[in-house]
Amino acid sequence: MAELIDGKALAKEVRAEVKTRAEAFAAKHGRAPGLHVVLVGEDPASQVYVRNKQRAAGKAGIAGEVHRLPAETTEADLLALIAELNAAPGIDGILVQLPLPDHLDDQTIVDAIDPEKDVDGLHPFNAGLLFVGRHGLRPCTPSGCMRMLEHVGCNPKGKRALVLGRSTLVGKPIALMLLEKHATVTIAHSRTEDLAERVGEADIVVAAVGRAELVQGDWIKKGAVVIDVGINRLEDGSLTGDVDFGGASKHASYITPVPGGVGPMTIAMLLSNTVDAAEARTR
Ligand code: NAD
Repeated sequence: MAELIDGKALAKEVRAEVKTRAEAFAAKHGRAPGLHVVLVGEDPASQVYVRNKQRAAGKAGIAGEVHRLPAETTEADLLALIAELNAAPGIDGILVQLPLPDHLDDQTIVDAIDPEKDVDGLHPFNAGLLFVGRHGLRPCTPSGCMRMLEHVGCNPKGKRALVLGRSTLVGKPIALMLLEKHATVTIAHSRTEDLAERVGEADIVVAAVGRAELVQGDWIKKGAVVIDVGINRLEDGSLTGDVDFGGASKHASYITPVPGGVGPMTIAMLLSNTVDAAEARTR
């Protein structure tokens, strides 16, 4: 039976590290690291995410504010707010909660964030730094996955890693991070043929698709490490991942649960990025 990678417990550890660093930063600079979150509209899921981020930031010694804007906010008004936050010296991190309402283009807005304050790691400048293997702000969810691998002593060097999904948010960046750690990386996506075979070859499986239990348990190679990023809501209201957890647990060496796996790590890495940004900006 696979051992569980407890995202909640590991996230707690990361948040404690962040708190220590945030306190040291405050002692040195006379102010806490600052994270400002922008929420446009009333999407219920986004409201929950933003509330959780705000609460976690406060507990970790990070200051900041949530800017709640009405759904009909114009692009010009949103860009004006971002310009203001970019220019404020005490703000180290800016996060615009995505997705934005339909009349606003996510990428145009993300492009306007100062890359030094882009704690979501989604600005093309930061994506470029990751591509060329240089230090920069990296997307939170893939960073959290890498931290989980490290935590269970899984060194990707020389291993076969399969990433399911090729999004800018998760699939592509985690593939680059695994490559950086010398894994032999395959990226599977909606057009991939023989998915079961590809999964069966992998020592590390990262599933980031958004389809409940797409990855069947008996596809998993014996001893593989399985990181399930997917969050899918079932008809009964419960959450499940992209991997058949029960079946996969019989073959994997380590596996993340959903919920309680990658999710909590994403917020913890956001806080960590905020302190990284604060330290880098004041160096
Ligand atoms: P996305 O919709 O942008 O991308 C999904 C990807 O899956 C696409 O690249 C697509 O090619 C691929 N795909 C679709 N069908 C496939 C198939 N049959 N086989 C293989 N690949 C297939 O989604 P995303 O933003 O990358 O998120 C993926 C999942 O991860 C979602 O469930 C999302 O809710 C979840 N997520 C979780 C966290 C977290 O903190 N835990 C963070 C981000 C995303």
